[in-house]
Amino acid sequence: MDEIDLKSIKAIIFDRDGTINIPMPAVPNTKNTGYVLSISEFKFLPNVLDGLSSLYKKGFKLHVFTQQKAVGKGLITEEELNNIHDHMREELDGKAGVKLGSILYCPHIGSDCDCTKPKPGMILEILKENNLKPHEVLVIGDTIRDIPDKSLTDEGMQFIAVPNPDSGASSNKLDKKDWQDKGYYCVDDLLELSKLLYKPSQKQKLLPRIRN
Ligand SMILES: [Mg+2]
Ligand SMILES: [Zn+2]
Repeated sequence: MDEIDLKSIKAIIFDRDGTINIPMPAVPNTKNTGYVLSISEFKFLPNVLDGLSSLYKKGFKLHVFTQQKAVGKGLITEEELNNIHDHMREELDGKAGVKLGSILYCPHIGSDCDCTKPKPGMILEILKENNLKPHEVLVIGDTIRDIPDKSLTDEGMQFIAVPNPDSGASSNKLDKKDWQDKGYYCVDDLLELSKLLYKPSQKQKLLPRIRN
């Protein structure tokens, strides 16, 4: 079996809803197709604090890219979204000792912008802000829209799925078996992910290579 080696990974870019925090269910008969709209609705998934703490202590830089169409739909202001992200940063710092790096979001509806997933705009911006090369980055997400663009995986960017049965937008959602059938490596949560990675530049475990 083809394998990938994670030894060049310096930074990890995480999807937010369904990967870091519990995804919200859609509200029937409204524009809210499943968004966190307030700090009180933002709750970490199990093992996220421990997993991110472990990865951060090992020396990985941790960034976030997230689709937030709730802004474009007028359900939440950009300021309110930034407040939720400030809260996420503070909780991660206070409870897990994690200093998050970049948080990029796409607030737009439709697909005309360059930042909507699965377009590479947000990831390219994180690479630029943090002076990273594609092969130094591992992307983690719960839906197929989180998979990096082929232009990035061709340059060595890696992806690992963390399937979440509660994630919205069912058309983009796969269960563990579907991910594996497509050739993607899966973890159950971020604590399991943290056990796959040693320190940056050390030899890493070999994982099955993804097809893309
Ligand atoms: Mg997600
Ligand atoms: Zn956008």
